[in-house]
Amino acid sequence: MPGTTTIASNLAQTLDAISALEQQHQRANGSVELLAVSKRKPTDLIREAAAVGQRRFGENYAEEGVQKILELQDLALEWHYIGHVQSNKTRLISTHYDWVQGIERAKIAERLGAQRPTGLPPLNVCLQVNIDGEATKSGCPPEQLMALADTVAAQNNLVLRGIMAIPAPRDSAKAQQQVFSELHKLYIELQLKHPQIDTLSMGMSGDMGPAIAEGATMVRIGTAIFGKRDT
Ligand SMILES: *Cc1c(COP(=O)(O)O)cnc(C)c1O
Repeated sequence: MPGTTTIASNLAQTLDAISALEQQHQRANGSVELLAVSKRKPTDLIREAAAVGQRRFGENYAEEGVQKILELQDLALEWHYIGHVQSNKTRLISTHYDWVQGIERAKIAERLGAQRPTGLPPLNVCLQVNIDGEATKSGCPPEQLMALADTVAAQNNLVLRGIMAIPAPRDSAKAQQQVFSELHKLYIELQLKHPQIDTLSMGMSGDMGPAIAEGATMVRIGTAIFGKRDT
């Protein structure tokens, strides 16, 4: 198509792939949202994605993200901070982002809640679950998830939306699917206690298929839309 940018066509292909996976796994049409992960990518590419309808963007470096948020204010986009939150970045994140995926300890939740400016809607929160045990330090151990959820729910300026996870790659497709299935079970368990949650954020460019098969409601896609990152 003349005039179609690479970003626009990558985005269209990603959305088509999500639709096809929804169908293949008997998921409702539109039940999987796309978060476009724009970390390390310039704002002109984000504008290209926004021009063809993408509204949700994810950033993983707090300051870099804020720079883009300010630069793109005219577009009224929805901004997600994704990944580990350092305690010296909570004020910056709480002031500028719409969502945080994910929180892994109570202290961070309390700081984000306390530092959310009055006048802004509550900050949407996904808890990051560490499903890989010792293999990675990021995320809350599954057995502490319920207590962390209660801490978030007790903060006036936070809204608990669900779970986020970044499982390490497994050596077989079956094992990969299994880990997403475990995350789905945790999500359902959390939903029994917090019925308003609606977000199971799992699946990236390399493992979106098994994540959608096992119930992801949001996939976080960077490389497939914006291309490889240098850093
Ligand atoms: C970078 C990143 C992604 C996107 O990864 P791709 O493989 O480029 O799709 C998703 N989630 C988190 C938390 C990230 O940091």
